[in-house]
Amino acid sequence: MQNKFILVLNCGSSSLKFSLIDPELGTTLLSGLAQRLLSEQASIKIHYNASHEQQEIAAPYDHQAAILVLVKQLQQLNLISCVKAVGHRVVHGGESYCQPTLINADVKAKIKQLARLAPLHNPANLTGIEAAESAFPELAQVAIFDTAFHQTMPEKAYIYGIPYALYKHHGIRRYGFHGTSHYFVAQQAAERLEKPLAQCSFISAHLGNGCSIAAIKNGKSVDTSLGMTPLEGVMMGTRSGDLDPGIIFYLINQLGYSVADVEQLLNKESGLLGISELSNDCRIIEDAYIEAHNQQAGLALDVFCYRIAKAIAAFTASLTQLDGIIFTGGIGENSNLIREKIISQLSLLNFEIAPDANVAMRFGQSGLITREGSRPAWVIATNEEWVIAEQTFQLLNEKD
Ligand code: AMP
Repeated sequence: MQNKFILVLNCGSSSLKFSLIDPELGTTLLSGLAQRLLSEQASIKIHYNASHEQQEIAAPYDHQAAILVLVKQLQQLNLISCVKAVGHRVVHGGESYCQPTLINADVKAKIKQLARLAPLHNPANLTGIEAAESAFPELAQVAIFDTAFHQTMPEKAYIYGIPYALYKHHGIRRYGFHGTSHYFVAQQAAERLEKPLAQCSFISAHLGNGCSIAAIKNGKSVDTSLGMTPLEGVMMGTRSGDLDPGIIFYLINQLGYSVADVEQLLNKESGLLGISELSNDCRIIEDAYIEAHNQQAGLALDVFCYRIAKAIAAFTASLTQLDGIIFTGGIGENSNLIREKIISQLSLLNFEIAPDANVAMRFGQSGLITREGSRPAWVIATNEEWVIAEQTFQLLNEKD
């Protein structure tokens, strides 16, 4: 087998997702997930050729130990020699990175420095990079930044209405996230329209546990709903999204919350979970609403969909044409109810759902969900791993 496969790593603080991908076809040869890292329950699941294998991870139960199990498995399956390079998902690239980047000591130092903007994610990404460097010392390591696609936003979209010095001296501005996903689905939608991406304008809605909307003009991101951190914008599974900042002062000054309490409340206890008081899982909330007529579940869904529809309508102000809306992410790809509720709020923009097609586009199916005569809306299953593999491969080919 050719050594053209890219090992894609996505490191969380206690998890490691990996896939071995053919960058040209997007096919996955092997994939898996290590979970509960840094605890004695650490384990790794590897999928290869329709078989699944689960193994415990030995002490010290960390990312490096997980990667060692993966390397051993690749050796046993005779796949180690077909790995050309490692592509890493890195959450925050700040203003420094708008392109795939070959990792060296300077890049690692910068990722570490940017951890002040993504304290939960960048340190974990760096841990994955260092573990992969020691497991594959001879391979190139490439960083693909989640913020990179949104670096084309104009100043008017990324500057907050606060003193400019906070931007100049501390980098407080809007960056946006889920860039790899927005880019992938926009590219796929352009293919459906048989037009170059550079001639297409879309609004894409990545709706999963985290949610973001992006306005894409002539193939480039010109605005997005997530900001300096992944808390801004539309409501999410456990995150509040936009709210009156005065509420924070009220919670602290009148209700005795500490800063840490507020952080916990807005990041972990709000959104679908906070309103429904049931779950952050959209499926559970939909079931409670449809089967048990749970009113709070219904309200959570209403607020969620209304805010997304409002964001989509607002982003038309960033565009001069709108070729369609794209739904992606766990909720966007699977919930016909959420999509129907959002589209029904957008009739002024000439969107009308096709009910049967909307129900059909679930569980990995991609396609059009609007009627003939309507402006198009599609469901497109995202594939961030493929973008990471493709961009890693391209970067190395340019360098050869
Ligand atoms: P992600 O973060 O992209 O993995 O998406 C996770 C979200 O997708 C969770 O809120 C799930 O409840 C939601 N989801 C997955 N499958 C479905 C489904 N069939 N119907 C509604 N929501 C779903």
